[in-house]
Amino acid sequence: MADLPDTRFQPFVTYPRGFLVWWGLLLFLCKLGRLRQLDYQLRDPEMCVLVNINALAQSRLETLPACGTLTHFLGHVGAAALGRLRTRMVRQLIRNKVLDDARLRGAFVVVLDGTGHVAFRRRHCPHCLTQQHGDVTYYSHSVLEAKLITPTGLALSLGSEFVDNRHLRAAPAGESTARKQDCERKAFARLAPQLKAEFPQTRLCLAGDALFACGPVFGACQKYGWHYVLTFKPGALPAVWEDFQGLLRLCPGQVRRLRTPDKRELEYRWVNELSYIDDQGRPHTFSAIQCIQTQADQRTTFAWLTDWPVTADNVIEIAEQGGRNRWKIENEGFNTQKNGGYELEHVYGADEDLLRSFYYLLQIAHLILQLVERGSLLRHAAAQYGQSVRRLYGSLRNIAGRLLECLRYRVIPPAAFAANPRIQIRLDSS
Ligand SMILES: [Zn+2]
Repeated sequence: MADLPDTRFQPFVTYPRGFLVWWGLLLFLCKLGRLRQLDYQLRDPEMCVLVNINALAQSRLETLPACGTLTHFLGHVGAAALGRLRTRMVRQLIRNKVLDDARLRGAFVVVLDGTGHVAFRRRHCPHCLTQQHGDVTYYSHSVLEAKLITPTGLALSLGSEFVDNRHLRAAPAGESTARKQDCERKAFARLAPQLKAEFPQTRLCLAGDALFACGPVFGACQKYGWHYVLTFKPGALPAVWEDFQGLLRLCPGQVRRLRTPDKRELEYRWVNELSYIDDQGRPHTFSAIQCIQTQADQRTTFAWLTDWPVTADNVIEIAEQGGRNRWKIENEGFNTQKNGGYELEHVYGADEDLLRSFYYLLQIAHLILQLVERGSLLRHAAAQYGQSVRRLYGSLRNIAGRLLECLRYRVIPPAAFAANPRIQIRLDSS
């Protein structure tokens, strides 16, 4: 927490920063859904909550924070500090090689995807995105996420760029509102240098939908030394798509076929060294992969662009781990955060910075819960009862409920905090 500013705002009790960050994380770790639930669910002198947070935060407080203290604290530290805390946690996992099994050809797959964050019927701040539906104007804020995803289903937030109209002042006057508004591509231009600064040595492979298959993204990947596997759609780069289809017919030998256990027939074809000149006149060269999936009578075509030269040996791993895995950000990432008890779209705070602070707390809590759910500690605990984690808990959603019960009624044993032996989490890579 070294980079959170020291704030002393309570006249009688000074809560250490670590304590209040834990207090805020419990909102999401226990999936409480609303701020006031912290009071209803965790404030009871008969329970062990205070003892446990003191142990986690290494503090010795005698009371839990009053209602409003958390919001006040977050207002003081600001969202940026919490964003850095999130980033440092992921960096630590990468350094400790916890995620190494997830690498695709040596690189971590980082999926770019935007999602709605909060929406309002009235203007909430000067920077709201606006959308007109008939006579009604809707106001909203979005976010572009870069999430590190793994084949086993982890989706860890690596970078977040908020999409709103605070950057509009720089835009030339006279453009129509629709053109001037912030969007995911503009947000990417701000996110990319941040990501490089925060993970300068980490090998990354960007993945994303066809929206990101464009000159600025190819250019950023080249500049920062990142690989990419981006969805390729005929409409997005029509001339390149036409070349691709023509060249596919000229190299019928470049094909791999696969039958999956769930009876899908997959046929992969590829072309290397496709060229493209973007609208700024910059040349780009890449490979393209096409995958035709047949299941029963249904035929679906997928395609991706990648900087990797494609061969019969690597086509399947690039397409599956880099291309298709992208959907996990929707399922494991946004869907879980919106509908899995985290309440991503709830308005937790009044102003923009507060909304972002809660957003980062949610990302940190989701990271911790994913490690708990998929880590070896819970697996070993379940094994003591001769069960798998899923059989013992029914569903992963129940784990937040169990966590809440444990925090209330059981004191975390001091041995859990002993420096030696340290608790090690190992992820299931099967
Ligand atoms: Zn707003």
